[in-house]
Amino acid sequence: MKLAALRPAGDLLLQPAPRAGVLLPLPLSGAYDYKLPKGTNVLRGLLVSAPLGSREQMGVVWGAAEGSVGDNRLKEAVPFEGHPAIPEKLCDFVDWVAQYTLSPPGMILAMVLRSGRAFEPPAMRTAFVRGGETPKRLTSARERVLALADDGLARSVGTLAEEAGVSPAVVRGLIEAGALAATELPEFPPFPVPDPTFATVELNGAQGEAADGLRGEVAAHRFAVSLLDGVTGSGKTEVYFEAVVEALRQDRQVLILLPEIALTVQFLERFAERFGCRPAEWHSDLSSKERTRVYRAVMNGEARVVVGARSSLFLPFKELGLIIVDEEHEQAYKQEDGAIYHARDMAVVRGRLEQCPVVLASATPSLESYVNATSGRYAHRRLGARHGAATMPAVRLIDLRQEKAEAGSWLSLPLREAVAAALAAGEQSMLFLNRRGYAPLTLCSACGHKMTCRDCSSWLVEHRYRKRLACHQCGYEIATPPKCPECGAEGTLIACGPGVERVAEEFAVLFPQARVAIASSDTMHGPRETQAAIRAMAKREIDVLIGTQIVAKGHHFPQLTLVGVIDADLGGSDGDLRARERTFQLLHQVSGRAGRAEKAGTVLIQTRNPKDAVMAALASGDRDAFYEQERLYRERAGAPPFGRLAAIILSGHDGGAVTDAGRALAKAAPAAKGVKVWGPTPAFYHLLRGQTRERLLVQVERNVDVQAYLRTWLAGVKLSNKVRVTVDVDPVSFF
Ligand code: ADP
Ligand code: ZN
Repeated sequence: MKLAALRPAGDLLLQPAPRAGVLLPLPLSGAYDYKLPKGTNVLRGLLVSAPLGSREQMGVVWGAAEGSVGDNRLKEAVPFEGHPAIPEKLCDFVDWVAQYTLSPPGMILAMVLRSGRAFEPPAMRTAFVRGGETPKRLTSARERVLALADDGLARSVGTLAEEAGVSPAVVRGLIEAGALAATELPEFPPFPVPDPTFATVELNGAQGEAADGLRGEVAAHRFAVSLLDGVTGSGKTEVYFEAVVEALRQDRQVLILLPEIALTVQFLERFAERFGCRPAEWHSDLSSKERTRVYRAVMNGEARVVVGARSSLFLPFKELGLIIVDEEHEQAYKQEDGAIYHARDMAVVRGRLEQCPVVLASATPSLESYVNATSGRYAHRRLGARHGAATMPAVRLIDLRQEKAEAGSWLSLPLREAVAAALAAGEQSMLFLNRRGYAPLTLCSACGHKMTCRDCSSWLVEHRYRKRLACHQCGYEIATPPKCPECGAEGTLIACGPGVERVAEEFAVLFPQARVAIASSDTMHGPRETQAAIRAMAKREIDVLIGTQIVAKGHHFPQLTLVGVIDADLGGSDGDLRARERTFQLLHQVSGRAGRAEKAGTVLIQTRNPKDAVMAALASGDRDAFYEQERLYRERAGAPPFGRLAAIILSGHDGGAVTDAGRALAKAAPAAKGVKVWGPTPAFYHLLRGQTRERLLVQVERNVDVQAYLRTWLAGVKLSNKVRVTVDVDPVSFF
């Protein structure tokens, strides 16, 4: 696969045209052969324009040509003049991810080439400096502009006008008079450079030890993985900032991965407080112009620190020196459509290819990372306690079987009393319920009909403010009907169970004076409202925040002392091996929002299963006991990380074809030692967006090459082209 530089020697005309395998950013089986213009320095990573059918397509020289097709039958790919090449280590990464996830390499390459314009030579923009002439007529407005321009900085007409407080016409007059002269500037202003000495903190003992270890790894320019494991508020961010400092000193770039865009705003501000400027950001919300700017700056090394969502793993860093994966246990790191990959795991791979350290940070690590750290494969860097005066909150379980609230009420008496006390003391509270909307189910009290999605096997969730019922799987919506669509009875549709809106409604009746906001990743409460609610909370403009898992993560609200969990028993979904782990992580994270500053925090958890291991671990605070027990379960079951899983999902509009394909596939599964195959079974959402879905699950022992097994298997069966086959290696969701 590796390709040495083929430099043409001797008389070019006598030489055959060089040829190469060119990878196109399309879901094709591999690279295609092309010839290249004579004299081309054929390097892996070279960007070319390649004809494909009737189109020209951007592609990348990937390796030596495979075939023996004659020159006259090969099409010619032409390198882009003056374009930078894709770094070779990034090409290697693309190959690695493709082979691991069983995706076509071109599909992974597409994630690298997402900003096509970034490869063009940067455009220039016109700006103005002081010119040679002095205008005959000098008004005070003109004088102000010239005084400004005397500092030698080049500015646009708009900037000059704004900064001098004059109209653009004044500036244009000066240009005509020759008092301002045009000059060319790059299209984008340069990225500010983070300053490691901008603000320093004095680390406590455990923090110092962890930071020393990380600094050493960064300075050594070698691959190493650390699990930075410390309770919420213990200073993990402060510690990995020290590793960032070292990388900056080494003139290397840093990638900080965050699980959700919603978390970036607070983070960017925090970074600026420490380093004097914001880092570059990379996620799906950027404008295409901003994308181009960031991409280029990452490629030429100007952007020193990038904060981004999982897709930033595919950026063309020039000299990557450190990767940090914050909240490494988050499920959001798993990309579930298109190329299915886990950004945390792939971050470790990229770190290995780039020979740089990788830091995984969490207060509730994934069991995989926990096992890797306790077995010594990763360095386990622990921060035991919260920094300074802050202590861990006291956690109390409220047994809902004893504290029966009246029907339609979701706040038990002890929780109400605690909220009242917090309000009276002028402290903030948070109520957590991992359910969007008003009610998860609407049913007819006359005939029992349940309102379900037209295209999915899921219930429609009521959104009362908008008077609509919505499918949270596909987005299908209807206006809430006045009568039952099944039996026609009027006024019989009733809401079952609570969503955050319903809790907020009850809350408003109980505490009419309190200032409340809802934060939920929802169409009604979209990212902007959520951001606003979170800001309002941070600024103490509200007393109570009612939210879904979006409020659980990362946020630091110093005045928040009470957290109430409305229903802790929601997490358990059958057949999901990580259900317990996830419930624990989520509730622990939510609890961690309480009492992060001087005032102590309290957490009240409403549950019907107070004896459950997860609830017991939360109440006792004995996290590691929970992890050890979970490790035992998994070890006995041969589940990850002690064995490996892969899912095959079959889907299609023709339900019969999907069922047949499932059977045929199961029958064709090769027998192999250490491999078990289950299914086909209908997926949890058997119908999704009108498509029928069936799943097969493969479980292998750790030493089995699951990719090789899957390849052999899938290559050996011919399935109907009405059925789509998706492979999910290391699945985290079992829907
Ligand atoms: P974590 O990332 O583990 O949740 P943070 O790094 O966010 O913890 O720290 C929690 C709070 O404590 C932050 O406001 C942080 O600035 C502060 N903090 C942590 N360590 C120190 C320290 N050594 N000196 C001063 N403040 C600290
Ligand atoms: Zn639906």
